[in-house]
Parts: sequence; C-alpha cells; structure tokens
Amino acid sequence: MSIKLGCIADDFTGATDLANNLVRAGMRAVQTMGVPQGPLQARADAVVVALKTRTAPPAEAVSQSLAALAWLRGQGAQQIYFKYCSTFDSTPQGNIGPVADALMRALDTGFTIATPAFPDNQRTVFKGYLFVGDMLLNESGMRHHPLTPMADANLVRVLAAQTARRVGLIDYKAVARGAAAIAERIAELKSEGVEIAIVDAVSNADLLALGPALRGMPLVTGGSGVAIGLPANWGLAPSARTRSLPLRPGLQAVVAGSCSQATQAQVAAFIGAGGPALAIDPLQLAAGVDVAAQALAWAEPLLPQGPVLIYSTARPEAVQAAQAELGAQRAGSLVEDAIARIALGLVRRGVRQLIVAGGETSGAVVQALDLQQMAIGEQIDPGVPWCAGLARAAGADISIALKSGNFGARDFFTRAFGAGGGQA
Ligand code: ADP
Repeated sequence: MSIKLGCIADDFTGATDLANNLVRAGMRAVQTMGVPQGPLQARADAVVVALKTRTAPPAEAVSQSLAALAWLRGQGAQQIYFKYCSTFDSTPQGNIGPVADALMRALDTGFTIATPAFPDNQRTVFKGYLFVGDMLLNESGMRHHPLTPMADANLVRVLAAQTARRVGLIDYKAVARGAAAIAERIAELKSEGVEIAIVDAVSNADLLALGPALRGMPLVTGGSGVAIGLPANWGLAPSARTRSLPLRPGLQAVVAGSCSQATQAQVAAFIGAGGPALAIDPLQLAAGVDVAAQALAWAEPLLPQGPVLIYSTARPEAVQAAQAELGAQRAGSLVEDAIARIALGLVRRGVRQLIVAGGETSGAVVQALDLQQMAIGEQIDPGVPWCAGLARAAGADISIALKSGNFGARDFFTRAFGAGGGQA
C-alpha cells in the first residue's frame, strides 16, 4: 500500500516531533533513521525520513534530501513535506533555501509555502516575523546559538537570502479570513512571480485553515505545526486507532544520559518512589572499568520485578568536574557509548519496553540497537510518544520512547509504562 505524505526532516528529534503531530492529527506514521535501504516495514499514511542535515554543508544537505525524496516517491508519496526547526535554524547559506529549491526542481513545481509556526510550542509568525514566546526570534536565545545564530526575525528576508527564487508573504489579513482567502492570496502571489511564501499563523486554528489551501501542493515546507492541518485533506481525523500501538510485552528499563533539569527531577522521582537505580560515572569509564558489564550484571536479577533505571544524569558541578578531567567531548562520548551498550545488553536480556532520556543519547542507543524504522504510537507527554520497531542488533521487536532532555513531567519514568494503550 502506498503512503500519502512523505516527509524529510533535517534532524532526528524534529522528525519525531513531526511524526507525533501527524499521528495526533489522524495519520499512522513511521519514522526512519536516514534513507532506508529497503521498503517500508509497516503500514503507514505518513513516513518521516530523519536526516542530520540542519548544519551540514548545503550540497550535502541537498543530495541527502534528494535521496530521501527518491525513496519516498518510490513508496508512492502523494505530497512531500520538508520539515525544519520551529526557530527556522539555518546559516546565511541555508539549508532551508537550498533544500527547498532542490526539492521544488525535482518535483517540477513552481510554488511552495514555508512557515515554522507552531503555536502549541510558542512559535508564531505575524507579518512575516517569527516570535519565540513573546519575543522576536532575534531577541530570543537563538541570537547566540552556537551553530545557527538567528539575528533577523523577518523570515521573508532570511529565506530570500538563501534562494534565488522570489519570496513572498501570505499575511495575517488573508489567513484570518480562512482557507478560501488563503487560496486566493496564493493565486495572487503566483501571478506576481512569487515561488515561496512565508505564512503567518498565530494559533492552531490558523494552521487548520491553512491545511485545505495546501491540498495537492506537491511540496510543503515548515516546522512540525503545519502538519496538523494536512491529514484532513485525505479525510483523516484524529482517532485513538491511529495512535494505538500496544506496548510489546517484556521487561522494562530506563537509561538516562541527559543531565537536563527535567531529567534530574525524573531520576530523583523514580528513586524516591523506590525504583532500583544505578548511577554510572564517566571517570570510571575513562579508567577502563567495564561499567556496562557491571550495570548489566546488577540489572539482570532485578528486571523481573519491574523497571530499572541506569543513569549518568548528574548535577552541573559533577558534569563540570568530569569535563575538566576528560574534556567535554570525551566525557560525552564515553557516556553515550556506555549507555548504548547497556541498552543493547538490556534488550538482549529481555527488555522490550525501553525509555531513553537525552537527545544525543537517543541517537547513540538507536544506532547501537540498529533500529532503522519506528512506528509512532501514543504520546506519553507532549512531544514524546511510545514508538515500536525491530532492534536488529538484538533480533527483537521493542517499544521505545526517546525523551529529549527537557521533555516530560516529573513522574515520566514510572507513568510511561502504564501509558502505552494495553498489552500486545
Ligand atoms: P539532552 O537531551 O538533555 O541535551 P543529551 O543526551 O543530548 O541530553 O546530551 C547529554 C550529553 O551529556 C551526552 O553527550 C552525554 O553523554 C553527556 N553526559 C551525560 N552524563 C554525563 C556526566 N555525568 N558527565 C559528563 N557528561 C555527561
């Protein structure tokens, strides 16, 4: 069966964010890690191919995006969605402009839209200016981002600097009047020679009004917010059925490599509730101790009684001390590598419900498990769904939740195991 919406995301957690929105709006969604070698493993309405192209050299971002496009078209995708960050993260050269250009050329289309608006996440666009909460983009912390500093909140200007195509604006005057007015404005812009239009949106209602105007448009570009208005174009509505992805029966565990405040609180809450927990220490790893083997030996007899937690989560003083001794890079990669090996060992010992805390940590774990495709299920907390897929390195079908550091409520690690929608 062919898919409806084919998505290309410029980073890993952004891909999950988009897939989660699509599922909540009524589509069955699968996320793949990179461009798959073979066909899709599960039935889906939408597939999100997760790339790491946000800060790659433009030529490389373009070639990877075109490879993703070719695969998605091979799966029958009827519409293509290019997903970037809701803060429009890009350098003066791109990659939003160059990738959008290349996709338009490959799809032989002369018009698309671009909007990072995601009101649920405090990202709104008005008169072409992007707001982060109550602040203009360039007044927010994004001004000092280490890789993609954003010094201009005017997205028409920002995008025009990245493409030779004419950039225009579907402004709030049209958006506020609904789908028909948006369609009229699109026709007007096209007649003026505009090829990419930034779209104002300050609420979910605006994004839902935008949806019908995008029906049949070969390429849509945006943050994850625009996605909420698309499933209705195929007659799909939010339903518990699309989200239902029963948790795989088996043992339960949490591995945490995030040191964010939210994760620290979650670790403390798990321990406070009497859960068995083991801390791992980067200095021991650096000294050559086989911490992964020790952690697995510790976990094995405890697993049949309920979830265990293995964590490197530490307070800033401890992290700084480890970094001073080892360097931030080395400390990080030692911990990521150990947690990835522990996660694989846990799955080999029968864990089938695994929570991973930390964005980089999740990347390392997914790679160690050789998990290439994940179906997206019920959201546990905003932005963090249960997912399911084949961990090839262990030959096991598992449920997995990848929690980016600052996401999730305090009791996430305990509540998540009861939030999967029943047993398989
Ligand atoms: P988050 O999503 O909170 O940013 P990440 O997993 O992306 O979490 O990043 C956390 C980084 O910190 C990882 O590279 C991880 O290996 C590293 N790290 C985790 N624990 C420690 C520690 N105790 N000391 C030093 N670095 C650590």
